[in-house]
Parts: sequence; C-alpha cells; structure tokens
Amino acid sequence: MSLDLLIGGADSAAADGRSFERQDPVTGQLATTAAAADVDDALRAVAAAEAAFPAWSRTGPETRRAILMKAADIMEARSRDFVDAMVEETGATTVWAGFNVHLAAGILREAGAMATQGGGEVIPSNKPGTLAMAVARPRGVCLGIAPWNAPVILGTRAVAMALAMGNTAVLKSSELCPRTHRLIGECLVEAGLPAGAVNVISNAPEDAAEVVRALIEAPAVRHVNFTGSTGVGRIIGRLAGGNLKPALLELGGKAPLLVLEDADLDGAVNAAIFGAFMNQGQICMSTERIIVVEAVADAFVEKLAARAAALPHGDPRGQVVLGSLVTPAAAEKMDALIADAAGKGAKLVAGGTRDGAVHAATLLDGVTAEMRIYAEESFGPVKPIIRVKDTDEAVRVANDTEYGLSAAVFSQDITRAFDVANRLESGICHINGPTVADEPQMPFGGTKASGYGRFGGKAGMAEFTELRWITVEDPKQGYPF
Ligand code: NAD
Repeated sequence: MSLDLLIGGADSAAADGRSFERQDPVTGQLATTAAAADVDDALRAVAAAEAAFPAWSRTGPETRRAILMKAADIMEARSRDFVDAMVEETGATTVWAGFNVHLAAGILREAGAMATQGGGEVIPSNKPGTLAMAVARPRGVCLGIAPWNAPVILGTRAVAMALAMGNTAVLKSSELCPRTHRLIGECLVEAGLPAGAVNVISNAPEDAAEVVRALIEAPAVRHVNFTGSTGVGRIIGRLAGGNLKPALLELGGKAPLLVLEDADLDGAVNAAIFGAFMNQGQICMSTERIIVVEAVADAFVEKLAARAAALPHGDPRGQVVLGSLVTPAAAEKMDALIADAAGKGAKLVAGGTRDGAVHAATLLDGVTAEMRIYAEESFGPVKPIIRVKDTDEAVRVANDTEYGLSAAVFSQDITRAFDVANRLESGICHINGPTVADEPQMPFGGTKASGYGRFGGKAGMAEFTELRWITVEDPKQGYPF
C-alpha cells in the first residue's frame, strides 16, 4: 500500500497516482511505497498551508502550546512506529531511533513553551508621547526540507518552532525516509492542529529539483529552512535569494575534536568514540577529524583504536552499536576513502571491513592534507586521525576546512581550552565534550560552508518571526509644514 501525501489535514494521493519505493538498506526488501508528488501536488500543499494561516496565526499561544505538547505525547506513544520506520528506511539502530523520538518530543515541548515568549519589545521613541513597539509576527507559510540521517529530530525541528510562532508549514520529506517523516505530520494532526497548518509531501528522487523549485517560488511561501548537504544547500540558497525569501541553511560538517597534551585521555577517547561512530558517523556534527598533539598521540591512538575495534556492528535489528549505512553506495564510498588514504601513507588502526551496507568502525592514523578524508565529509564510520606538533597547529588544522558546524577541544586547562574554543571557526564548540550534541533550547547552526541561521531556543524564535515596527502616536503632534 502506498503512503499518501498529508495535505489539508487529510490523506491525498498524488494527483497523477504515481508513487516511489524505498528499500531497506540491509535486507534490500521494500521498506515503504510513498506518493510521488509533482509540482501541482506541492502547490496544493502550499495552498492548504496558506488557507490555514489566518486562523492559526490568530490562535492564542495557550492553544498552540497545548497542541504542540499533545503532539509530543503522541510522538512518544507512537515511538514503536517511528523506530520501526527508521530502522527499515535508514538502517539506523533502535537506540538512535529511540533517541530521535525523545529529542524530537523535546523540540515540540520547547517550541510549545516558547509560544508565549515571541512578543517583541517596547522601544523608547524620540517622539514625545509615542509608544513604539517591535512586534514579532509569524511570517506566513514556512517550507521545511529535512534529511534522513536524524529524521525525527530534523523533520520535527523543520516545523515545530514555525508552528509555535503561528506560522503554517509544508514539510518536504526525504526520499529515503518518507514514512518516518510523514509520521511527524500525523502526530501533529492527531494532536488537533487545524487542517492545513502542517502538510507533508513526499516526492520521487528524480522530481526533487522541480518540486523544491516550485515550493520555493510559490508566492505564499515566506521562509525556507533546509537541512542537508552543502551542495544542495547552495542550490536552495540561490533559489531562496532569487525569490527574496529568507533561508535557514543547516549543511554539512567536518567537525574536529582536538586532543591537547594535557587532555583527560580517557575522557577524550570516550567522546571521540561516541562522536565519531554514533549513527555510523552519519550526523552533521559527527567527529570527522581527530586532531591529536604528538606528545600524547601514541597513548591516545592505542586506547581509541582498541575501543573502535570492539564496537559491534551489523543488522540494526540485533544488539549492535553500528547499524547500516543509509545505502550500499554510501558504504562503497568508505572503501574509496580508505584506499585513497592508505595509498598515500595512512595507517589503518581499526576496522576497514564491511558487509554490504554495514561497515565496521574504522580509524586511519597519520592522515595528511593530500588525502581525500582530510577534507571530504565521510558521513560514515571512517574517521581520520591527524597528528600535530602543538596547540597552534591543532587550531590551524581544525580551521583548515570549508565547513564550520561543530567542534570539540579536550584540555584540563580550561583557560587554554576556552582560548582554543574562541579561535575555532564553528557555530558550536564543546570543551571536554563530544562534537555530537543537541538540545532544543540551544542555538544550533554553523558558519562557512555549514550554512547560516539558527534553530533552537530564542534564536529559532527570531528565525520564524518577523519584527514589525508599530507605533501609537499623538494625533496632534507637530509637523514642519
Ligand atoms: P541532500 O542534500 O542530498 O538531500 C536533501 C534534500 O535535498 C532532499 O530532500 C532532496 O529532495 C533535495 N534535493 C536533492 N537534489 C535537489 C536539487 N537539485 N534541488 C533541490 N533540492 C534537491 O542531503 P542528505 O544526503 O539527505 O543529508 C546528508 C547531508 O545533510 C550531510 O551533508 C549532512 O552533514 C547534512 N546534515 C546537516 C545537518 C545540520 O544541522 N547542519 C543535520 C543533518 C544532516
């Protein structure tokens, strides 16, 4: 059975009846058949969101909050549906899928709680007797485009704050997990969100460019948020700019984890293992470069390699830490990265093997700038170790990337670690913690080729509202003529 589009609060087949399939990356069996929206379907979703906007934007914050809170409860109650969909569609482990539901429910609750906080401010005016206000108003229809790698978290954050602030939304699901993304819309509709306030559309991969273009060009769409690769992010940014729509772009990363000579080595090993291999390294904040000062490199690498080599991997339905990569092609890319680095002198210190789309946790030591893995986002469980002579070189190497999403530095001298954190070019930096972390109330986003704009907390509230300058003045005020 094919999953319908969710438009105007109801199930709707694609107008021309087309559908597309998503296969389980481990078994190769059919995971989902979903409606393949065309441009007309996409515009129907925008029209439904546009029609729902006047009433939803006037709905009081208490009601908006209650619906988002209820959606969070429903999401948790339907955890099993989400976990099953994620495992089958993306090859994720049940732990990662469960964490997705937990954090996504938190995002809904945090956004709901912020519904009363989006007012604006009163600003002293130069005109006597004038009340001047910056009033935060919802923007209108917000388009959200989310990827498959943390699908419940990223699909939810693509719409939650937008809805809390009184906007309506269209979520364009990933071709790799249409069922998981649709479930988010189902929870919101079941929670009582009015028809059309949220719409979820799925599309066949070959239609992505056309459907996305139509969505961004639609006059009713007033804001675009996109989480995905830097390559597609540039296309979205150009389209949004050409249509004068503000865009929030959350793109790729190449997060460095710096281990200075006074680091708590065991702590650094734990953070590196978690940050590098959670969800098989397929997280935008994944530790993509382990940069270690030579003085402690041998001891650190020995401990790290032993931990990595012991991580169980396999079918995500079993007791494993690493499940499957999202596609067999993604796993094949790991082979190429390993071969390239090994051919140029890197030493394989853990892993290196794979079975179909399942790849072992892999570490390459002695990686240098000539190797592909030094600069390219692996987005998989193959991670480079780069040895440097001192702190300054560690900072230079950490910043030697087009990306700038997350970073981490390990040192027991907090003054020094803080100085390093301030010198790193990234939107996020953790001292003595892993590069992978997210909380709904934190400003989340990157710099450089990792994109711009912020989800989360007050920054997210600002993103999904527009400030209007409104005054109340003395009608008898004087004029120069
Ligand atoms: P992707 O860029 O390949 O695909 C994302 C979306 O782009 C899909 O919905 C697809 O329909 C659309 N798309 C594809 N071609 C298009 C075109 N020509 N025009 C318009 N739209 C098009 O990303 P992905 O593989 O799904 O996700 C992985 C990437 O996402 C990684 O680079 C990762 O680092 C990044 N990511 C970033 C964050 C963050 O918060 N910064 C979070 C998670 C993932």
